[in-house]
Amino acid sequence: MFDSFCALCNRLAPEEDDLQADCENERELIAQLYKDSKNCGPFFVTPLIVATRVRARINYAKMNIAEPSLEIGIGTGLTARFILSDRHVNIGSDLFIHDLVEAKGNGAPYGGLMAFDMMNIPFLNNTFGSVFSIHSIYHAEDKITAIREMARVCSPGGTLCFDDVSSNVVSERPFVLALNDLRVFPKSANDFVRSILKPQRYLEPDEYREILRDCGCDDVEVIPSISLPLLKIIYFFYDLQRFFEVYSVLPSERRAKSLKQFLDCVIAPLLARDRELCEKEGAGFWFVHGTKRGHPDLEGASADVIERAVCPACRSRLVFVAGIFHCTSCATKFPVVNGIPILSTAYFPSFNELIEKGH
Ligand SMILES: [Zn+2]
Repeated sequence: MFDSFCALCNRLAPEEDDLQADCENERELIAQLYKDSKNCGPFFVTPLIVATRVRARINYAKMNIAEPSLEIGIGTGLTARFILSDRHVNIGSDLFIHDLVEAKGNGAPYGGLMAFDMMNIPFLNNTFGSVFSIHSIYHAEDKITAIREMARVCSPGGTLCFDDVSSNVVSERPFVLALNDLRVFPKSANDFVRSILKPQRYLEPDEYREILRDCGCDDVEVIPSISLPLLKIIYFFYDLQRFFEVYSVLPSERRAKSLKQFLDCVIAPLLARDRELCEKEGAGFWFVHGTKRGHPDLEGASADVIERAVCPACRSRLVFVAGIFHCTSCATKFPVVNGIPILSTAYFPSFNELIEKGH
């Protein structure tokens, strides 16, 4: 079904006026991402990944990633090099240590890695010249707390940016709409969306502006990304894939060729017209950026940023002794696994085990 639909789209695309946009730049970016992803396994190159990563690359190209820089929610860091066009980031972070261990092995562009919860960033205020999070904050239990935390550790004059989902990501997915339309599968449709995305509050552009102003940020811009037509088509494929687990094996050469053609004939022209189609039809995501108020005064710039790390339980300073971080106030110990500090209270039950393993 996946292959047939792909082939059908490829056959129809030349007839559609909406798909005739000049999209050489987008095709080049797709080709680059496709090439970079050759060794990432069969699940990786999907229309959803390609569209969101290429759009992110275009959005982040304009961002000033001032040092010291912090990225929140890097996952396995597979597309970081592509999205950031080889720019260096001082600290890459994620809640999941196993993802970070993988990131360490695949040449992601980070000076150091650290595991922590984005709702409780274990650094002193005003530590970073730029703080950003690419397609990640909507996985937090409470993304508004995560946004406030990002703003807190960003220094005056520093840049803050992140991507967030709009409610369209839940309400406008063709496969889920079809399930609902069949009338007898509302629970399945609901469970299916929940298995991918936590229930959360969806924010409007004015609400981001208000929250960020309240956290001390000015010049806030909210850019709509991934237009509704593009969103529908990438999620159609994504949900089909999730549901039927197609692509659980390496794609055949024929399938890979058909997918590449689909990316070039359908996804690339939609990406080229993304801003225009977002205005006309609505958007799936928001790319939000702002500048922290005040004169640049980078307290952390000269020092090693790790010296500004604090205890996630009580926010006191940490000392590094015998391969472990110790809180100078509450005496909690935080292990370092594969060179990656785990500064999160989420791991408390397994800390002793991790500390023992490290020695
Ligand atoms: Zn403490």
